[in-house]
Amino acid sequence: MSDRVVLVTGGARGIGLGIVEVFANAGCKVMIADLGGGTADSSASTSSNSDAENWNYNLANKHDLNQAQNKAGQLGEVASCEVDVTDSDSCVRAVAATIERFGQLDVLINNAGIVQSGPLLEFSEDDWDKVFAVNTKGIFLMTRAALPALLESKDAAVVNTASIAGKKGYADMSAYCGSKFAAIGITQSLATEFAPSGIRVNAICPGIVGTAMWLEHLMPSNTTDIDEKNRDFEDAMAERIPMGRPQSVEDMGQAALYLATAKNVTGVALSVAGGIEMN
Ligand code: NAD
Repeated sequence: MSDRVVLVTGGARGIGLGIVEVFANAGCKVMIADLGGGTADSSASTSSNSDAENWNYNLANKHDLNQAQNKAGQLGEVASCEVDVTDSDSCVRAVAATIERFGQLDVLINNAGIVQSGPLLEFSEDDWDKVFAVNTKGIFLMTRAALPALLESKDAAVVNTASIAGKKGYADMSAYCGSKFAAIGITQSLATEFAPSGIRVNAICPGIVGTAMWLEHLMPSNTTDIDEKNRDFEDAMAERIPMGRPQSVEDMGQAALYLATAKNVTGVALSVAGGIEMN
C-alpha cells in the first residue's frame, strides 16, 4: 500500500479518523480533510466558529484537525487540509492540496456526514437541506473534484460512508435515512459508470459507533465524564446488537481498507453492524 494516496473527508475524528489510522498503518499516505474553523487552541475545541460548523452538536474544527494529524502522523505519512464538502471550490482545493503534497490520489473516502433527527412536523427545511447537502451532495462534489486524479491512478477506488440507515428506515430519521439511501444509490450508479475506467466504488454501512453522532445527539447523557458516557453507551448497545457490542472506528477502517483493495468488488454496500442489519 506504500504507493497509494488516500483522501478521507470528515477525517478529523470518529469513524473518519479510524479510517485514516487503518490506512496509515497499512502504509498509505493519507490526507485528512475536514472542517477547519476555529483556532488551533484546544480551549476552542468545543466552540463552533463557521457556518458549516454551526449544527445541533459541534462538528470538527482546526484543533481537531491538527490533533488528528499529530495522532495519525505517528503511524505514517499523514497531512491535513480544510474542506467543506458542500462547497464545490473547497472540494477542488482539497484535491489540489493532496496532489501538491503527495503527487497523486488513488483512494477517495467520502466519509463526512451529519445527523439530525426529529418528528417530521418539527423538522426544519434548513436542517433537511443541510443533511442532504453534506451526506449526499457532498459525495457528488468531492467525487467530481477527485475524478481527474482518480482517472490517472493505476488502482483507484472510492469508498462512501453510508449507513445501516441507508438500508432501512427508522422513525424520526427521514432526512438522515433518505440521505443515506441516496448515498447507496449514488454508490451503485458511480460503480457502474466508472467500471470501464477501472475505478471501483463501494460503500460501508456502519451500524452503531460511539462517536459524536450518538454520544452528543442520538443518545445524549447528562454526564460530562467521557468514560461514563462511553460505558453507558456500550451497555445500552450490548443489548441491542446481536454480536453484543457497538462497532468501533477500527471496524470501519478495516472494512474501508478491504473495499479499497478488493480488486473485483464494486457497487457493494457493506454492513459492518454486528448483525443488527443483514440486508
Ligand atoms: P462525527 O460527527 O464524529 O464525524 C463526522 C465528521 O464529518 C466530523 O469530523 C465533521 O466535522 C465532518 N463534517 C461534517 N460536515 C462536514 C462538511 N460540510 N465538510 C467536511 N466535513 C464535514 O461522526 P461519525 O459517526 O464519525 O460519522 C462519520 C460518518 O459515518 C458519517 O457519514 C455518518 O453519517 C456515518 N455513520 C455513522 C454511524 C455511527 O453510528 N456513528 C452509523 C452509520 C453511519
